[in-house]
Amino acid sequence: MPRPIRATISAGALSHNLLVAKAYAKGAKLWAVIKANAYGHGVERAARALDAADGFAVLDFQEAVRLREAGVTKPILMLEGFFKPVDLPLLHQYGLTPVIHDAGQVEMLRLEQLPGEIDVYLKVNTGMNRLGFGAESLRPAYNALRMHAQVRSVTLMTHFADADGAGGVQGQLDWFNALAKGFEAPRSLANSAALIRFPEARGDWVRPGIMLYGCSPFAGRTAESLNLKPAMTLRAEIIATQQLHTGERIGYGFSYEAVGEMAVGVVACGYADGYPRHAPSGTPVLVNGRRTRTVGRVSMDMICVDLTDIPGAGIGSAVTLWGEGLSADEVAAAAGTLSYELLCALAPRVPVAEAA
Ligand SMILES: *Cc1c(COP(=O)(O)O)cnc(C)c1O
Repeated sequence: MPRPIRATISAGALSHNLLVAKAYAKGAKLWAVIKANAYGHGVERAARALDAADGFAVLDFQEAVRLREAGVTKPILMLEGFFKPVDLPLLHQYGLTPVIHDAGQVEMLRLEQLPGEIDVYLKVNTGMNRLGFGAESLRPAYNALRMHAQVRSVTLMTHFADADGAGGVQGQLDWFNALAKGFEAPRSLANSAALIRFPEARGDWVRPGIMLYGCSPFAGRTAESLNLKPAMTLRAEIIATQQLHTGERIGYGFSYEAVGEMAVGVVACGYADGYPRHAPSGTPVLVNGRRTRTVGRVSMDMICVDLTDIPGAGIGSAVTLWGEGLSADEVAAAAGTLSYELLCALAPRVPVAEAA
């Protein structure tokens, strides 16, 4: 008997969101970013639904190899490139495009004889200060790569730190244009937030992630208003009910106290399923399609929800934690996090079903 919880992934929503992203891209090529197991949606499944993308961006070799083994022949971008010289032959063998962000990688590439040519991305640090070459080191790295016999092409990329925020992208964009001046190379700039908000920051290849999964990159704009459809819906059922009297408490720490007569449902979903443990009492949830709220602390395998105003709700009633009818953005905001984290945290123990 499986526990009554499951995530449903909608291939139709993924394809729809890709079309939305493509409309913003206005002819720029598009990497569908499917790192972190496609933000929890499954890389193979996501690649199938997103097959109108021009390529797929992943983080690690396991994901890249899984894609190739699933028959994906499009370009695959490795967002952190390679780590050790032993990785290098794999790049050619699997036809992968590494992001080169550090002089050590340029040196590893120089010392290794590859069996054939590869394309590379060269990451420019425009102030985010995580990865990439700055003013002094960019030119030598670019020249070394251009002179490398097995490097077929070099694309310049950067990543925006505040495309969704007050800072925007202009400062980084100006910096990028200054650093990249005189380089005859294609460019890859925009994530989801920049793609939607700053069309001038597209470049030749855009890299949307979160919007493909139907979430909004902006705190103040809903996914719905951006015409995005949730691709993942996490549903469970009520497995027990409780009737609380005034002053009675519920869950760990007795943190929630009933202020009146109250019906509570216990849902088969907890933080070990990926529900955010920090979600406070009052986090929105749907029961039988109607909005209500969590009460008390999230525990490992259960959460409690208020059924007082949901007549007919009881054991077996359907609960939507996020997805269709309740945006992951809203649940994430209530829990003090982002939809990114919710989606990625979907636990392996939750069965996943695919929907049209
Ligand atoms: C994750 C990532 C993206 C996608 O970002 P979203 O905000 O999900 O659109 C794009 N570029 C790089 C380098 C990334 O690491």
